[in-house]
Amino acid sequence: MATSPPDCDKAVFRFAPSPNGLLHLGHALSALTNERFASLFEGRLLLRIEDIDLSRCKPAFEQAMRDDLDWLGLHFASEVRRQSEHFADYAQALSVLRRRGLVYPCFCSRQQVRVAVAAEEAQSGRPWPVDPDGAPLYPGLCRELDPSEAERRVAAGEPHVLRLDMKRAQALAGAAVGYRVFDDSGEERQIPARPERWGDVVLARKDVPTSYHLSVVVDDALQGVTHVVRGRDLEAATDIHVVLQRLLGLPSPAYHFHPLLIDETGQKLAKSRSSESLADLRARGITAAAIRAQLGFA
Ligand code: GLU
Repeated sequence: MATSPPDCDKAVFRFAPSPNGLLHLGHALSALTNERFASLFEGRLLLRIEDIDLSRCKPAFEQAMRDDLDWLGLHFASEVRRQSEHFADYAQALSVLRRRGLVYPCFCSRQQVRVAVAAEEAQSGRPWPVDPDGAPLYPGLCRELDPSEAERRVAAGEPHVLRLDMKRAQALAGAAVGYRVFDDSGEERQIPARPERWGDVVLARKDVPTSYHLSVVVDDALQGVTHVVRGRDLEAATDIHVVLQRLLGLPSPAYHFHPLLIDETGQKLAKSRSSESLADLRARGITAAAIRAQLGFA
């Protein structure tokens, strides 16, 4: 990595873990990569706690996470943003999108979506398209619901999510949506986004009045984040984020996607697969210096 800082005055980075489990080496890599860039750009490094999923996120995990980050020797600016304290900000962004006619309530269950997709496939004889995460694109069942009927069902308390009408969103955002990516030396280039490959994404869940996509876009803007450093698993999702930024009139940060760590089975490390945690490694007597060295940050 080049050592001379790129020409950038007030670079702001953030590490944004979810306290729904213990951090593993993949998180350490992400946090340390953020730290390295923050130092290269002479910028600030913020911590954001992404805990919108109140059923899975626990204060004990947040404490464990803070302990791990301290142990690794990572220093963050003093202000910490905890998403669960800012639902009003996400509601406000949603209302902007709603006023522009870009959001609709969707009452479909997973099963209804599966049946609709199977019917489409049977009719066309072709596989139904899937999004970059491998889930079938939403077939649009509720998109054309009569608005007064949709309103009546919402008022009656029927469980629903709120979806972005991606075609309309793209039409309003303008054809040439793209974003800046920066390489290891900080050099930027522009790349095009392809949000259509995600279809009508969910912006507010049934159980949570927002979504990862909406919250991350709102928070990056409110925290003045200029540079997002995240794993390659979130590269495709950035297409959604830049469309939302355009529609909400928010600035777009520059992005860097670091490689993912994979385990001996060839899969990326994940809390859901109980990858060995930093706390386990620490308990085995591994030092923070050894972790830094192992990940290339000696
Ligand atoms: N909270 C996300 C995660 O833990 C990261 C969010 C982001 O970098 O945009 O994977």
